[in-house]
Amino acid sequence: DKVPVVTVDGPSGAGKGTLSTLIAEHYHWRFLDSGAIYRVLAVAATHHGISPDDELGIVPLASSLDVTFETINGHTRVILEGEDVSDDIRTEDVGALASKVAALPTVREALLRRQRAFAEEPGLVADGRDMGTVVFPNADVKIFLTASAEARAQRRYDQLKDKGFDVTLSRLLSDIEARDKRDSGRSVAPLVAASDALVLDSTSMSIKQVLDKAKDFIDSKL
Ligand code: C5P
Repeated sequence: DKVPVVTVDGPSGAGKGTLSTLIAEHYHWRFLDSGAIYRVLAVAATHHGISPDDELGIVPLASSLDVTFETINGHTRVILEGEDVSDDIRTEDVGALASKVAALPTVREALLRRQRAFAEEPGLVADGRDMGTVVFPNADVKIFLTASAEARAQRRYDQLKDKGFDVTLSRLLSDIEARDKRDSGRSVAPLVAASDALVLDSTSMSIKQVLDKAKDFIDSKL
């Protein structure tokens, strides 16, 4: 029998990570944070002095990327070449670099198998941009989670302020709009809802409301 897969796609800051983590906890499934792979690749490129648009340089790095995800006490640590980069990969700068390397078709191709390998019993929740369209086109359940750019910028602002970062709302909004444009406009695996996805707009919904709708949909499909 095939492993059940739930995909959660959408633009940055819509709450995919939070929703996917809660779904994985609820069903006791595995979790793939595909964005973290692109982020780690961006950090690895920086470490190796390779420019984010140097496709020929980045592809071998993507194929041989030495990254592991270790979950300790419910917290996932991301380990690159033996070094914990969990915090380093979360900056806006790395997000922007990640979206540049992610626009390279051969880089995406090189990362396909690695992502598909996450589908293991008892099930998988996969979070990203193209989980339901490219990586797991036959997923049992597809969710597309979105929110207005303003709402997403405001949430990120609150999170970063909480962590003591010095950020401005207008800068975050323009970062988000730039990343949306790059992710939606690229020729390969652009950000788009799968035709069979449930589209949830979380602009004026709480996390609990989003989770309840997602669970109802998943339960109706499995
Ligand atoms: O989701 P996150 O913000 O961590 O993703 C970082 C970047 O990686 C995105 O802006 C996007 O360009 C890229 N990405 C992608 N496909 C995925 C996940 C992330 O292209 N499945």
